[in-house]
Amino acid sequence: MSRISVLEKENAELKRSVNELIMLNDLARTINALGDSEEIIAKIIQHSLKAVNGEQGVITLIDKESNDPVRTLVRSMSTTGDQNPIHLKQFLLGWIDKNRVPLLVNNPRRDERFPNLVEEESIRSILCVPLIVKSEFIGVLAIYNKKEKANFTEEDMRVLSILASHSAQIIENARLFEREQEMKMKQLKLQQEIHFRKEEAKRLQELNEMKSFFVSSVSHELKTPLTSIKMFAEILETQPNIISDQREYLQIIYHEAERLTRLINNVLDLTKIEYKVKEYNFSIVDVHDVIKTVLQLMQYQFKMNECIVETSFSREDFIIHADQDAVIQAIINLLANAMKYSSDEKRILIRTFTKDSFVCIRVEDRGIGISEEDVHKIFDPFYRASLKQHSAGGAGIGLTLVQHIMNAHNGKIDVGSKLGEGSAFTLSFPLKEREA
Ligand code: ADP
Repeated sequence: MSRISVLEKENAELKRSVNELIMLNDLARTINALGDSEEIIAKIIQHSLKAVNGEQGVITLIDKESNDPVRTLVRSMSTTGDQNPIHLKQFLLGWIDKNRVPLLVNNPRRDERFPNLVEEESIRSILCVPLIVKSEFIGVLAIYNKKEKANFTEEDMRVLSILASHSAQIIENARLFEREQEMKMKQLKLQQEIHFRKEEAKRLQELNEMKSFFVSSVSHELKTPLTSIKMFAEILETQPNIISDQREYLQIIYHEAERLTRLINNVLDLTKIEYKVKEYNFSIVDVHDVIKTVLQLMQYQFKMNECIVETSFSREDFIIHADQDAVIQAIINLLANAMKYSSDEKRILIRTFTKDSFVCIRVEDRGIGISEEDVHKIFDPFYRASLKQHSAGGAGIGLTLVQHIMNAHNGKIDVGSKLGEGSAFTLSFPLKEREA
């Protein structure tokens, strides 16, 4: 080779390198001024079209988080004319992922490697290069149809490969940056949500405290006049000159005041339970004596409601370790319910028996019963089974208290009920070990 031709060859290579550098610098300059990945991808396609003189360019990015190795995440297309958009065939995407080399097809209808490569008439030539970042395949840059009906050359393939190798990292960076921003936004929103929820919880807690304070102060305030009402009703009842009707009215006043006192005690106890300050005083308690006391206390109420109460006590003495007042309160709540939720036939049976190592008190009624749907909810505070079934008043806290009392005694409360047939509530207390 002559010296001149050597110099000419060197000059051509130098020119080519300079052109490549100009192309890459040009790309870098425009991309630096751009914002989001969509714009960047569009610019890269436009530069690629210009560099290889193509008609239409598509960048297909794969979804790395998907199980399908070539699922498309982003597809961006740019064209120099007004052709219909051409999509990169899924099998070509797979082929490039597998082989990781550029693909040049100048006669797509007669390519032996891909018999069904094109369906569209308009496709004359295809040039695809893989987009790879740190040896990871992220997508494909595809250019369709060399302008002026020419063929793509090896040189075009080389130029497009250089562009692709520079672009892949840029695209990846832009997308990483966007994902980072997205995550930061999500985190910010989450932090705001947490802050909002905390504030809301604090506000609800404050409201709840105010409510409890209000309820317990009002309840306390009600107790004093009720004690006076009961006391004066008792004094009046002992007066020698009152007639029998008046005595009956005084008894009504007394027992209604007592019923109200019980309700207020339930409310106060619930507040104490809520604030975990409810205390129980345990001592030796005879179950049958306690039931007899309750029957005595409620005698008047049973009479007023024409309620028949029967007992079936075990012959044995049942001694338990318990807070007597709490046990009385639990049995009263069950009996009051049995009476309240019985319509025509107000008949209650109280049975005592042992089961496993528990002493059981069962209160059975023939009242309206409880539906299967409600039976598990009736122990929740303020829950009242469908009011369609009954119009009896109540606060929905009686059974919540009974359950709390039973838990404090290491015991339990069970319920068996059938709608329209009646209910049976069973209190089970651990049997006190006999002292040797
Ligand atoms: P209250 O009776 O004040 O509503 P409770 O906590 O004592 O509150 O009872 C909760 C709910 O359980 C009642 O509203 C009622 O629907 C149902 N319930 C309780 N005892 C009986 C019973 N013996 N028969 C039918 N339903 C009952």
